[in-house]
Amino acid sequence: MGINARSLSQSAYERAKQVIPGGVNSPVRALRSVGTTPLFIREANKAYLTDIDDNTYIDFCMSWGVFILGHNNVAVSRKAAEAVGRGSSYGIPTLAETELAEHIRGAIPSMERLRFVNSGTEATMSAIRLARGFTKRDVLVKFEGCYHGHADHLLVSAGSAVANIGNASSAGVPNDFTRHTVCLPYNDVSALKRYFEGNGHRVAAIIIEPVACNMGVVVPTEEFLLATRTLTEQYGALLIFDEVITGFRLSFGGAQQRFGINPDLTTVGKIVGGGFPAAAFGGRKDVMALLAPDGPVYQAGTLSGNPVAMAAGIETLHQLSFDGFYEKLEARSNGFIEQLKVIIKDKDIQLNYSGSMFTLFFSERPVHNFADARQTDQQHFARYFQNMLQRGIYVSPSQFEGNFISDCHTPEILDYVLKSIKESI
Ligand SMILES: *Cc1c(COP(=O)(O)O)cnc(C)c1O
Repeated sequence: MGINARSLSQSAYERAKQVIPGGVNSPVRALRSVGTTPLFIREANKAYLTDIDDNTYIDFCMSWGVFILGHNNVAVSRKAAEAVGRGSSYGIPTLAETELAEHIRGAIPSMERLRFVNSGTEATMSAIRLARGFTKRDVLVKFEGCYHGHADHLLVSAGSAVANIGNASSAGVPNDFTRHTVCLPYNDVSALKRYFEGNGHRVAAIIIEPVACNMGVVVPTEEFLLATRTLTEQYGALLIFDEVITGFRLSFGGAQQRFGINPDLTTVGKIVGGGFPAAAFGGRKDVMALLAPDGPVYQAGTLSGNPVAMAAGIETLHQLSFDGFYEKLEARSNGFIEQLKVIIKDKDIQLNYSGSMFTLFFSERPVHNFADARQTDQQHFARYFQNMLQRGIYVSPSQFEGNFISDCHTPEILDYVLKSIKESI
């Protein structure tokens, strides 16, 4: 696969920068951390992206994990197009919302009641507001390196070891807004226990990515994940699983099914909208009963439950519910991972993975938390990214992101990728 100069992408980027800050609508798309400039995409199909310079790449980012069925799935696109033909928003209920909600609850039974929003950011923001409303407490415990969208009070990095209070990690966020957010290290059971022993009675909720995917893939120890459940239960706090990536990715029932742990509230996004802006939050019905109009916790959205997104989501979940879908995807991913292990053996590279997601970290040390991830060799990663791109493979463009294998990543494609990784590193 020969890759042409990306001259049209280059001029599109120059033009975009004149009207859009940084030329992009989400910062990581600028590809700065990997030392290059954005690709501008013309179309995508199955496991492939094609840019406006006519280069076709094998995609391992898959719109950040959205397209588990591959890009432009025929039936999903057709259902969405049919929905558009009936008018794309009404601002009044439709049957499709109930139908998709029933599908989601069928897959994730802990989501006894759920509500749709337009993005993962809104889903976590709403779930946290609800948890605070329910417990009548303010403190939110999150873990360093977990991403839960860009709401003000979630943009924190770990603060001083004594206070545990997170510092705002973005300009424009008053420290007053992050005062109630406590940021602890991932996979550290004793830090979590210690915090709860002193402060558990003030905690409204723990929010966690049950497999972290936004510091690269980092898998929790069983003991750690279990501790989030037992401590919240013990201290009357709620447990929120942010399954915006892992929902419908690690199994039909998400990470909670895989690990056998039921949270009080769950957020799902990415896959659930079939490529359209949709996400949801839900959980225990006694907690969800507090939402307006039934209860005092306010939450709303003009385009929430959008009929086009609902149609795409229903068709996506329908295909994912086929017998053996996840077994097949996982078997194929496992084969790939086992071969990858051989390739990186004796190199200063760490392979973290779970199901059909993985990250290669350029580091001699294992990566179990954000401090480990931060110490990896970013420059080495940037060279690897560019090298793979020249071979026609678009891996996720940051050391802190996961790569996603879809149903369209055939064994032949995966073989080509393995060969390219071997040559690149
Ligand atoms: C992507 C993501 C979000 C934010 O979702 P958006 O739709 O980008 O707002 C929240 N949590 C997790 C775990 C995510 O991966």
